[in-house]
Amino acid sequence: MNLFRRVPDAAKQKEIISMNGVCHSWIAGNAIAFLPEPVGKYWAEYRELLENAANFSDIFWLGENSSPQYLEKYPDWRDYVFLPEDGEMKMGHYMLQPARTCQQLTAAAGYLISRVLSEMRSGRHERAVKFTGILSHMIGECGQAAHVADPKMLSALFQQEGQSSLFHSPMENNSLVSYPEHSYSAQCLGDDESETVWRFVQKLAVLKSHSTKTIVPIMNAILKNDFAEAAVYASRTVGECTDIMADLLYTLYALFEGKKKGPDSVSLLELEPEDYLCDGMFNFLPQRSVMPGKKWDEPIPLDAGDGARPGIALLPEMFPGHAFPRFAFVRYRIPSGVFRRFDFGCGLNRLADRNETSGIFEIRLDGKSVWQSPPLSVNSGNVYASIQPGRAEHLELYVRDSRTETATTKFFYPCFFDMTLHRSNNDLPRPKIL
Ligand SMILES: [Zn+2]
Repeated sequence: MNLFRRVPDAAKQKEIISMNGVCHSWIAGNAIAFLPEPVGKYWAEYRELLENAANFSDIFWLGENSSPQYLEKYPDWRDYVFLPEDGEMKMGHYMLQPARTCQQLTAAAGYLISRVLSEMRSGRHERAVKFTGILSHMIGECGQAAHVADPKMLSALFQQEGQSSLFHSPMENNSLVSYPEHSYSAQCLGDDESETVWRFVQKLAVLKSHSTKTIVPIMNAILKNDFAEAAVYASRTVGECTDIMADLLYTLYALFEGKKKGPDSVSLLELEPEDYLCDGMFNFLPQRSVMPGKKWDEPIPLDAGDGARPGIALLPEMFPGHAFPRFAFVRYRIPSGVFRRFDFGCGLNRLADRNETSGIFEIRLDGKSVWQSPPLSVNSGNVYASIQPGRAEHLELYVRDSRTETATTKFFYPCFFDMTLHRSNNDLPRPKIL
């Protein structure tokens, strides 16, 4: 987390690390309490090492100039803090940061998870624990508001005329942050390495999005010098990080034991989209399970005819003549070959103010359309269907105005409902199928 610290010597470095290093240790150590037996017993044996390894990326940030005490204690430190990129091993702290793309985080997590498993399988458990510590550090970085924030945007938003102070440090180093005692039950992230990496990076994306929402409240509190209030938000995120760490520890052990315990199904609502397009009247974002209503602070649920359902509302471009066709989409990364079936519903939200045209809904896999609805009007109801994702890596929900001439604005509110990936293709009870 040393982004803005110019540390002149190792002694000072040690003193500074203890400030937020404690959060990294909490995440790694406290996650063990959320594990079932015998998984909890396995990790508990290495708890102290895991807590220390969660700080390796900061402790050894200065390479050979790191604190001699640590260099001596962990002579194999290079094995863990160096990560591969572009065919060479480099000091990898920057590769763990939330600013990295999904593909870059996938590469770093993929490397680390595969190292953990190969060390476990060779019986080198302490080495496995040290690699796991680097993954814990990655979680902590993605939950740190100061790291999630774009520093240029922070100054644009918060730095007043005549003022000059560094925002990163007070956001990151708040001694009032504490571990939030809570309960959680660890979930398995996947049946194999690649599914686990995919779901882990998805969890980091959701964490980043939650952490992003704490930036403004934390900054507002800091500007009032109210560090206790700022700490409330940061502490909550530490709790969320710990839950993800518990999922990871649980999954690593399940993979080591060769047990398949990944979830039978995953709702797209649990995932962060990799890309989307929506009209500005929806804040340019796909809306989850509610959409803007007539009053600005009273969102309305999504209902295409069989009651309010969980789903996603998309709003195609509203400007007349702006684009043809008028369309909107949301796209997700999915693991290739893991899920056998994707179920969904689609239709127009009849709770919306008006629906003046019909929509054509599509499912696209790796950019290719594999399912298309006829034009659905507000009277068509919620239409359910299933497709097989096969080996696709990108799943896109797409909708467009059914008219061929879209020069006049007509309002309509298309939604996808109950979008669920299933591991098996066994028949599940499904409502009406198109
Ligand atoms: Zn760090």
